[in-house]
Amino acid sequence: MANMAPNKNPMPTQAPEVRAHNFDEVALGYSEATALDEAMRCLNCKNHPCVTGCPVNIHIPEFIAKIQEGDFEGAYQVIQQSSSLPAVCGRVCPQETQCESKCVRGIKGEPVGIGRLERFVADWHNAHATQLPDPVPSNGHKVAVVGSGPSGLTCAGDLAKKGYEVTVFEALHTAGGVLVYGIPEFRLPKAIVQKEVDNLTAMGVKMETNMVIGKTLTIDELFDMGFEAVFVGSGAGLPNFMNIPGESLKGVYSANEFLTRSNLMKAYESDPVTPIMKGGKVAVVGGGNVAMDAARTALRLGAEKVYIVYRRSLEELPARKEEVEHAMEEGIDFQLLNNPVEILGYNNPDDRRDPKNGFVTGMRCIKMELGEPDEKGRRRPVEIPGSEFELEVDTVVMSIGTSPNPLIKSTTEGLDVNNRGGIIVEENGATTKKGVYAGGDAVTGAATVISAMGAGKVAAKAIDEYLSGK
Ligand code: FAD
Ligand code: SF4
Ligand code: SF4
Repeated sequence: MANMAPNKNPMPTQAPEVRAHNFDEVALGYSEATALDEAMRCLNCKNHPCVTGCPVNIHIPEFIAKIQEGDFEGAYQVIQQSSSLPAVCGRVCPQETQCESKCVRGIKGEPVGIGRLERFVADWHNAHATQLPDPVPSNGHKVAVVGSGPSGLTCAGDLAKKGYEVTVFEALHTAGGVLVYGIPEFRLPKAIVQKEVDNLTAMGVKMETNMVIGKTLTIDELFDMGFEAVFVGSGAGLPNFMNIPGESLKGVYSANEFLTRSNLMKAYESDPVTPIMKGGKVAVVGGGNVAMDAARTALRLGAEKVYIVYRRSLEELPARKEEVEHAMEEGIDFQLLNNPVEILGYNNPDDRRDPKNGFVTGMRCIKMELGEPDEKGRRRPVEIPGSEFELEVDTVVMSIGTSPNPLIKSTTEGLDVNNRGGIIVEENGATTKKGVYAGGDAVTGAATVISAMGAGKVAAKAIDEYLSGK
């Protein structure tokens, strides 16, 4: 009998006043009983509209039917046919605009908690499957993957399963891309990503960290070393700034730097090697997932007050609703319809050795109102003349978007990019340079984990066809 309850089973979470002071995961996951109850809300629709909302077309009703039967490993096997990172996507996919937005149960209530069920199944599998995959015999072909984010890991995994000898070249000292350097532990524990990396190395994939392609080696040198194809999944890690006065003051960060220092360089330790802030007041400029992550990280690093400064209203905030709600519950102060015009700093010309010289002291903002819709249909924010005010802050984190880094393009002959720096590819991920494929944020600009994964899959298939002459 289907469970006709109009609402999803709520996700158990740490209490806001507790979690605001630790880096442990906020959402605790469904129990078996709750997962079964939620699975019973699925009507197993014949035309399964939910599947069309998933960028990798996971067979959603099939995996949920397995949960209904209590066959959790069977459910995992169904998901595995389409996605290699279910524990990640079950946590961070924007389900509300993807699979769940198409669920028929959403017409008269809340959709089935597809993402929560996917996370449950993946966590159940990870808790019970202790065996790493066996190495796959080599087919004699070598492929290089640049970048170890979701696109690179997926491409590497799919090729390794077919017997390709894959080497992943990663610029940072840890593999995982944004999944480890960007998304904080309290949303996506690093151990989950590490498990995926361990699975790949068990299959025979080599991980070469601290290798900046375009500096340490070029793409052409990779071909000289015997790699027959290269997949570029180097992401979009180049931060955008507002170009307002004061952005070079000490205490102004890009969200990428702020999060990388916290996530990978352990700025949260009591005596960190690279401290990023000491308490005080923090303003995060922007309204996306990255801004929410930076604001909530600042809170956990001990900020006494954290502002989100965003130029539109709550309705237009691009971050996931759940993340915004969590941030509000934790006490982040949303300064909506406000825009920074200048970052203010301490300046003592009489004593240049004054240790406070050059540090942020505040931010001058202007109030905004919403005008006519822009080309994307979003109402354009317009400044209200004479409404400027000052916000007293010690740290400013700019989180207004990122672009693909031009390094690989500038060191690779024949690799074309568009006017936003994204690598130009055909439908199958082939670039303008023979043997080089690309996907994920390096092509689209900042997007989502699941779309990057999908692009890695498409390119792996094309590389296999190219090298096997199919
Ligand atoms: P990335 O994950 O960016 O990985 C690229 C890798 O390539 C990096 O490890 C980088 O170090 C490496 N690299 C770059 N240049 C070179 C080079 N020259 N040589 C060698 N290696 C190189 N998406 C969601 O779906 N849900 C979310 O909740 C979400 N939250 C996010 C929060 C933050 C803070 C950020 C920054 C992004 C978030 N995203 C989210 C977006 C998502 O993480 C990205 O779209 C996705 O990771 C892109 O995957 P990718 O493989 O293309 O690149
Ligand atoms: Fe939904 Fe994302 Fe899972 Fe696809 S991968 S079913 S979009 S949560
Ligand atoms: Fe189940 Fe909703 Fe998909 Fe129908 S649309 S099969 S109810 S998840």
